[in-house]
Amino acid sequence: MTEIRNIYCVGRNYRAHAAELGNDVPDQPMIFTKPTHALAEMSGGELTLPGDQGEIHYEAELVLHIAKPYHEGIRVDEIVDKYALGIDFTLRDVQSVIKKKGQPWLPAKGFLKSAPITAFRQFPGASKLTEENFQLRKNGQVVQNGNISNMIFDLQTIIDYIAKHYGLGAGDIIYTGTPEGVGPVHKGDLLELVWGEEVFGAVTVHL
Ligand code: MG
Repeated sequence: MTEIRNIYCVGRNYRAHAAELGNDVPDQPMIFTKPTHALAEMSGGELTLPGDQGEIHYEAELVLHIAKPYHEGIRVDEIVDKYALGIDFTLRDVQSVIKKKGQPWLPAKGFLKSAPITAFRQFPGASKLTEENFQLRKNGQVVQNGNISNMIFDLQTIIDYIAKHYGLGAGDIIYTGTPEGVGPVHKGDLLELVWGEEVFGAVTVHL
């Protein structure tokens, strides 16, 4: 894998997911970051997550890989060279406390191995990706089923917004938000990320 630089994530980018957590739909993209130490492979092995901080929720997301420096007017299909699926793991109980206190999200979102990711594939273009759904299967059951056409802020808007406010260049990746169906993981759960009919990657949760 080429070296990954910044890990940007979009929060509340699907209406039904914002609703299931009782959150308002944002009027501009809600961006946060994770340390690169959050990355982990989804190649079928075990993934060790913190087991002593309350519920850990899975959030399956399309991940974009940025190929080159951003300039104004560049299109998604020019700046993105690869895509993958990833999980934005969230310590949901920790996040609830943090949200009440108005504190930064890092403890809830940026912990070690909180951003497992499948192998990257060649990006076929943003419109092509709307032709099939992506899914998270937990122990063989579909628990999340999303289509990127349901995003509140589309890929172009996300890329332009991140570049304008925080910068965007080669090696950056973007977790683009999760559809509805998030929920807790338990020790031994098998999590598989699927695009169309193809399993992109899997892990077994270890707490
Ligand atoms: Mg997320």
